[in-house]
Amino acid sequence: MKCPVCDKGTLKPAREHQVYFGVDLGLFSGEKCTHCGELFLGESVVSAIEAAAKAKGIWGLGRKTKITRTGNSLAVRIPKELAEHLKIKEGRDAYIHPDVKKLVIEF
Ligand SMILES: [Zn+2]
Repeated sequence: MKCPVCDKGTLKPAREHQVYFGVDLGLFSGEKCTHCGELFLGESVVSAIEAAAKAKGIWGLGRKTKITRTGNSLAVRIPKELAEHLKIKEGRDAYIHPDVKKLVIEF
């Protein structure tokens, strides 16, 4: 079958680790394009990945947040569930820096 993304490669069976938010959810089977490398997963595999993410407590950790003003600076609201997952507490030191289209906060 031809790749619906690049229209150049063909899809071959592949088995890859699915890593979400730095947590390895395990090996899952799908089909990978021989040209662009896009991985296609079936509906049941997507459900299994979702179940694994829920079991590891990382499901729904990525979400929209608001940037607010505090004095002359801007502040990013970190949702409670994300703070608990990363064990972030008020007053903790962090290192903040830019990346390509990202803001990185390291602890
Ligand atoms: Zn492709």
